[in-house]
Amino acid sequence: MELDFACRYPFTEEGKQAIIENNIQVNDEIAERAVQRVLNAMNWRDKEGRGIYDPTYAHLSDKLTEIGSYGAARMMLSHLRNRYLTNSFAVGEAKRAYAFLKGLEEGHPDIKRLQEEFGVVPEKREGKDTLPLATYVKFAPRSVDYRLVNRNVKGGRVEIRKKGAGVSKREDLRLLQEAIKIRVGHLGTIKNAPEIIRKHSERLMKSMPKVAPSKMSFEKGDNPPCIEKLLEAARLHQNLGHQGRWSLAVYLINKGVPYEKILGIFSNFPDYDERIASYQIKHAINRNYTMPACSMMLSYGLCVANCKVKSPLGWDEWKKRKRS
Ligand code: SF4
Repeated sequence: MELDFACRYPFTEEGKQAIIENNIQVNDEIAERAVQRVLNAMNWRDKEGRGIYDPTYAHLSDKLTEIGSYGAARMMLSHLRNRYLTNSFAVGEAKRAYAFLKGLEEGHPDIKRLQEEFGVVPEKREGKDTLPLATYVKFAPRSVDYRLVNRNVKGGRVEIRKKGAGVSKREDLRLLQEAIKIRVGHLGTIKNAPEIIRKHSERLMKSMPKVAPSKMSFEKGDNPPCIEKLLEAARLHQNLGHQGRWSLAVYLINKGVPYEKILGIFSNFPDYDERIASYQIKHAINRNYTMPACSMMLSYGLCVANCKVKSPLGWDEWKKRKRS
């Protein structure tokens, strides 16, 4: 049992075993750390290194607290059944793992172990790293860069590109990050949570950032299908790729939706950061960006119907004409 590995990646089998073998029980210290863990995940800042815990020189009891805090956080989230919190936690924990991993050289044992556990081990074909198509599709981030039309697909395998030459991230690790996010976000149910979990869950809810996700006030059917889908992602507190957010913001701005309301909609995304979202929305307003045409939405993978319009902004008119 390697505790340092379990500390860094508590969502693994190794993490689970560490809890069992060391008989880690939730106490106030672990629960307190779990509350902090969830709050950190919601405010993840990779650049500042906040939330990265290096167990290398930590005392044994600290390592056990760290591992236990992950389990306790999951128990709290299962008890609270709050989709926004759960998704935020999953996104934050996955980003935290990515932050560890991106500092490691290619082929590092940590990377290999995780790739094997999550079933995302790239294999060389004609000198290129590749993944089976089904695995790739399952874990590809929602971004235009990862769409299959922009990929080399051969013999049922998809090429994974290296960082550099227009690729900003290590794609093997980015796919692993998605796999981790999915696992962390998958919670069991917990009936009759222990008193200590209920007590600290309550504290967690009281410590939530002031900007709580705002209620969505759009009626279903007010907008074209592509925009409905993006709004639905916000309603369900699911993450959206850059193009999705951008298109949604530009659409809402062009429809005259006030800045505060757009910010409120964006606050529903699990990795919401008020400073960044505010900057992006204001930037789009000031630059007066036009709505991407349907053909562009199609290339982003965001078009979900054939509405016979050129732009999502033309949908209202088209719908009225269709009714009359
Ligand atoms: S055709 Fe245009 S309006 Fe309709 S779903 Fe596609 S992008 Fe949206």
